[in-house]
Amino acid sequence: MTTAAADRSDLFPDRLVVAVDGTSGSGKSSTCRGVATRLGLRYLDTGAMFRAMTWWMLEHGVDVHDPAAVAARCAEPVLESGTDPAAPTITVDGVDVAAAIRTDAVTGSVSPVSTVPEVRARLLRLQREIIGADVQPVGIVVEGRDIGSVVVPDAPVKLYLTADAAARASRRAAEQGAADVAATEQLLLSRDAIDSGRATAPLVMADGAVHVDTTGYTLDEVIELVVGMVDRVGT
Ligand code: C5P
Repeated sequence: MTTAAADRSDLFPDRLVVAVDGTSGSGKSSTCRGVATRLGLRYLDTGAMFRAMTWWMLEHGVDVHDPAAVAARCAEPVLESGTDPAAPTITVDGVDVAAAIRTDAVTGSVSPVSTVPEVRARLLRLQREIIGADVQPVGIVVEGRDIGSVVVPDAPVKLYLTADAAARASRRAAEQGAADVAATEQLLLSRDAIDSGRATAPLVMADGAVHVDTTGYTLDEVIELVVGMVDRVGT
C-alpha cells in the first residue's frame, strides 16, 4: 500500500507522506500517532519543534515578542526529533525537553515565536530533512499547521482536522488535569488566531485537503477514517 503512493510527490517521490494540519487541540497528535502505528509509518510532530525552539528562547532570556531578537538567535539551538510513533522524542542541545515544551510558559509563547520567518525557514529545512531521511520506514505522518500548504504541498494524503472550541478545551483540560476549561479554551482560541493571522505560512486548509470535524467522533473512529483514506490512495 505504501509503495503504491510512489511517484505522487514531487518533493519526496519515493515515499508516502500523510500531511495533517488543523487547529490547536483538534486531536492531531493522537490521530497521527495512531495512524502511523497502524500503518507502520514514522511520525513527526512539527509543533514540538516550534515548542522546542520557544523553550530555548525562554531559557536564553530572549524576548519572544521581539521578532528581530528571535530571528537573530534561531540558528543556534540544535534540535533533534525522534520519529517512532510509539515513543516520539525531542531534544535541544542534547537535552530531553519532551516535558518542558508542554509547560504553560512555552504554550503561551510558541505562537509569537512561530510567526518569525527566520524560525519557519530553519524549521522547514529541518522538517524536510527528517521527512526525506534515508531510514526505514520511509513513509511518515507529519502534523502541524502548514504541512499540506508549505512543507509537503504535494503530499498524497492531506487532512485538515478541527473540532468545536468547547470540545477541544475540555479534551485538553482533561489531558492536562487543568480545572479551568474556560481559560484553556481562551488559550486555544488565541493560539488559533495568531496561527491563522500570521503572514508567513498561516494555518489554512491546504488545497486538496480533506476537512474532518472530529467533534462527534472517538479517537478510534477518526484513526479508522484516516487509515481508510490512506488505503484508498494506495488502490
Ligand atoms: O501542535 P502544537 O499545538 O504543539 O503546536 C504549537 C504551536 O507551534 C502552534 O500553536 C503554532 O504556533 C506552531 N506551529 C506552527 N507550524 C507548525 C506546527 C506548529 O506554526 N507546522
